Amino acid sequence: MLARDVTRMAEDLLAEHLAGRGWTFGLDRAVRRAGACHHGDRRITVSRHLVERADDDEVRQVLLHEIGHALAGHRAAHGPRWRARAAAIGYTGSRLHDRPIAEDRATWVGSCPAGHEHRRFRRPAREVSCGVCSRRFSRASLITWRRAPDDALRGPAAADGAARAAGSAAENPRSERGQVTR
Ligand SMILES: [Zn+2]
Ligand SMILES: [Zn+2]
Repeated sequence: MLARDVTRMAEDLLAEHLAGRGWTFGLDRAVRRAGACHHGDRRITVSRHLVERADDDEVRQVLLHEIGHALAGHRAAHGPRWRARAAAIGYTGSRLHDRPIAEDRATWVGSCPAGHEHRRFRRPAREVSCGVCSRRFSRASLITWRRAPDDALRGPAAADGAARAAGSAAENPRSERGQVTR
């Protein structure tokens, strides 16, 4: 899809489902996830890399997935409340939509004090701070991790490259020697 078409689609969907609540849309450069819901900023983003490869229906599903998060609230994660809200607006979670499903394979969901959501397929061994809140490692923006509650939603863990490569660029890992890693 063309970026401008994605933006138009997203703005239409935001107007339809989140009108008057201050949510905005943007494209990001994430490589390993399709979309993100930034609760603290009331912003939904979709990866430019996804947009380049995906068709209208795939991008629409990613947007509905994230709008479902906006409607359900940060604490809902991928639990029943999110599932119900997302399904009600047309998110099918179909396995044909490989990219959102790949996101849903995430086992660990982290959030910083400001509410930015991060995903990992393994619990990070080291402390990680939120790269949205602070460009450098910051103890004030530590991400706390919990297991995603919706194992039933996910299929068997796929041993594919996406799973191994999971992570977010917007995180600041702390090196084992306690030094700051940018
Ligand atoms: Zn999600
Ligand atoms: Zn944050």
